[in-house]
Amino acid sequence: MSLLVIGSVAFDAIDTPFGSTGKIVGGAASYISLATSLLHDQVGLVAVVGEDFDFNFVETLNQRGVNTDGLQVKKGEKSFFWHGKYHLDMNSRDTITTELNVLGDFDPIIPDSQSAPHFVMLGNLSPQVQLKTIERISQKPKLVVMDTMNFWMDIALDELKEVIAKVDVLTINDEEARQLSGEYSLRKAARIIQAMGPQTLIIKKGEHGALLFGTDDQVFFCPALPLEEVFDPTGAGDTFAGGFVGYLASKGATDFESMKKAVVYGSALASFCVEKFGTERLESVTHDELNARLSQFEKMMTV
Ligand code: AMP
Repeated sequence: MSLLVIGSVAFDAIDTPFGSTGKIVGGAASYISLATSLLHDQVGLVAVVGEDFDFNFVETLNQRGVNTDGLQVKKGEKSFFWHGKYHLDMNSRDTITTELNVLGDFDPIIPDSQSAPHFVMLGNLSPQVQLKTIERISQKPKLVVMDTMNFWMDIALDELKEVIAKVDVLTINDEEARQLSGEYSLRKAARIIQAMGPQTLIIKKGEHGALLFGTDDQVFFCPALPLEEVFDPTGAGDTFAGGFVGYLASKGATDFESMKKAVVYGSALASFCVEKFGTERLESVTHDELNARLSQFEKMMTV
């Protein structure tokens, strides 16, 4: 079933205790599209970049079957730029710079052939654009999944809540769940956030896995694969979301049992993402490698 992805496609600069990158390709929708393309062949991307973007990356997405007809290129303008610096433990980071550039006045145009997707993934970008995207979809999708971050909670909370009220699944990290709900307990936070609209909430806890909250107090926990080395966590959350929605779209499923499996797929893909800087590792993952990692998850989760 068709899947529409929207989110930032960007340049990032990343500092970790292992080293720093120059400007490399990043952005929420870049990671999401790469992850979904390993699981599904009906993925369309809606995003915006400047003339300065690395178009080899767009070619990579096309080769993997991602339809980029909805990617706008703004002449004479600069792509979104984000610079992040990780702390020694790699679990937390500071945003050094966010330059919205082309994202500042992004008007998402959904190609006619993609205007009635069955699944929608609203990746991280301004809530106003996420809202416009929902409004421009011509038929109610089976499932709308949304990801966001504290940046938007800080500067556009009202608009953010307006979007949250319209989606089926929200994915955020533990710190953001606490900020959004004002509750420290994640169980209580989940109840408060679900009351804002989404039936399903996923709270990502980095190296400590992910919690899936459904209706009727259903809860599922998936650990993260303990890796010997985490090289660069950037994009792990987006990759997780891409794996989650990509799996569901490939099955055409929205039930809680399928969502549990989707969380495992998301976690398996995220475990690759962190092994190298930026999108590099995700670009080289094979289906055999993914299947081997899914088996590792199965062993780790079976008693
Ligand atoms: P994650 O590590 O999963 O939180 O995602 C990191 C990606 O999010 C980076 O590649 C950034 O380009 C992108 N990003 C950072 N800040 C924003 C923002 N305010 N809006 C949209 N995308 C962002």
